[in-house]
Amino acid sequence: MKTFKNFIAGGWVAPSSGEYFENRNPADTADLIGRFPLSTADDVRRAVASARRGFERWRREPAPARGDVLRRVGDILSRRKDEIADLMTREMGKPLAETRGDVQEGIDTAYYAASEGRRLFGHTVPSELRNKWAMSFRRPIGVCGIITPFNFPLAIPTWKMFPALVCGNACVFKPAEDVPHTGTVFVEVLLEAGLPPEVIQLVHGLGETVGAAIVSHPEVPVISFTGSTETGRVVGEVCGRMHKRLSLEMGGKNAQIVLDDADMDLALEGALWGAFGTTGQRCTATSRLILQKGIHDRFLGALVDRVKGLRLGDGRKEGTDVGPLVSEAAVAKVESYVDIGQREGADLLCGGRRPPGKGLEGGHFFEPTIFARVEPGSRLEQEEIFGPVLSVIRVGSADEAFAVNNDVKYGLSSSLYTRDNTIAFRAMQELDNGITYINAPTIGAEAHLPFGGVKQTGNGHREGGWEVYEFYSETKVGYVDYSGTLQRAQIDNYLGTPD
Ligand code: NAD
Repeated sequence: MKTFKNFIAGGWVAPSSGEYFENRNPADTADLIGRFPLSTADDVRRAVASARRGFERWRREPAPARGDVLRRVGDILSRRKDEIADLMTREMGKPLAETRGDVQEGIDTAYYAASEGRRLFGHTVPSELRNKWAMSFRRPIGVCGIITPFNFPLAIPTWKMFPALVCGNACVFKPAEDVPHTGTVFVEVLLEAGLPPEVIQLVHGLGETVGAAIVSHPEVPVISFTGSTETGRVVGEVCGRMHKRLSLEMGGKNAQIVLDDADMDLALEGALWGAFGTTGQRCTATSRLILQKGIHDRFLGALVDRVKGLRLGDGRKEGTDVGPLVSEAAVAKVESYVDIGQREGADLLCGGRRPPGKGLEGGHFFEPTIFARVEPGSRLEQEEIFGPVLSVIRVGSADEAFAVNNDVKYGLSSSLYTRDNTIAFRAMQELDNGITYINAPTIGAEAHLPFGGVKQTGNGHREGGWEVYEFYSETKVGYVDYSGTLQRAQIDNYLGTPD
């Protein structure tokens, strides 16, 4: 069994506690992947001190050279795609096609970031005074604390760290406890690509200790967090008190709406993929299906038939449609919501239990589950479950569907199936989400567009695309007066024509 280390101050080191936690395969808990450091606040302090030194060097590298390191990262990830996908499936369960997609997202993000090194645009604008130059440009900020969830073990760290690095910052990275192996390999790739060692620090361990120590460290002015809304609230409170720059990406309760005029087959494929891809553990997963009354019964019948045919199993085995949940705690949470749904009077149409037999006893499996007659406003309909549970709500009209979609505290993704362009464009205006898909499922973001949600899903920032570069850089303005005289703004250049 392998014992893994932190990467601090340019070397692979044991945690100061001398303690470790185990990382096991969720499809077969007898399969022990390795032991990973249970680090302490002391380890975080050493990591931040080193990252400060890394930052002082890295911020002076020209941005195109920083981008070039990211281009090499993209090349290495491309070469190692299958191997990394395999180890990712082993530690968090989603099928290989999905973990390959996770790595591909990292590759796309790397090449986008590499090219951004040759942009990082500022503005030059005319000054209101003669012989005076006015411009804005970007400066790096410092050490960024990067705290990530288990469900996209590579893609989400790349969304955060690649733009942070291209902008000239250093990173202290704490991956989720369930996916420390992918986090370790990711840091190995960064180093192999030529990132100067002190620019990246990897500190494994628990959120309450390592995560909290990063968030509250006074020399970490930037925190980027993706995880649950509950943890995000704790992180946000600390960052608010300490005046830190904070990006939060949190929970979701995403809906797919199917109207009477929709292409039924297309909508069915979308619902299956949206609800049960990644075993429902995507922030953008379809957890609510809003069906218009004309197609409700027919659509639901076809969906249940298809869901009963989904093959549960080890994501590394050929033919598996749905992998395990990430942990026993995740299975227990899903079970508790099945109880809640039944107590609330919803109809359990399929699933709702751990699969009996079938050689799946050794893993954290749960059957794909559908509840019908779910009431808007019920807990099943309102709360994030983060598992393979789909709640079906019947509505009379598109407007009623939009209202149900919007009446939750989250606002990440939504999807609408219709052939009516007028309703489709109206939906894009009316649905309170950061992303709306028309005739496509709630999942499927592309690396070069901004990603994020409204309401309690986020705090106004976006990952991906061009917007994330705003978050990781500080805008500075420079004025150069070459007139040789004192020119007083707003006084010597009065432009109006007073009556
Ligand atoms: P989580 O909130 O349990 O953990 C996320 C990270 O926070 C982990 O690294 C954890 O160790 C750390 N953490 C825990 N307590 C902390 C503390 N007190 N201080 C600092 N860090 C702490 O989330 P999870 O179970 O890993 O992931 C699932 C959640 O993430 C879901 O709610 C899902 O919707 C959300 N998510 C959101 C997005 C998005 O982009 N909106 C993407 C993926 C996942």
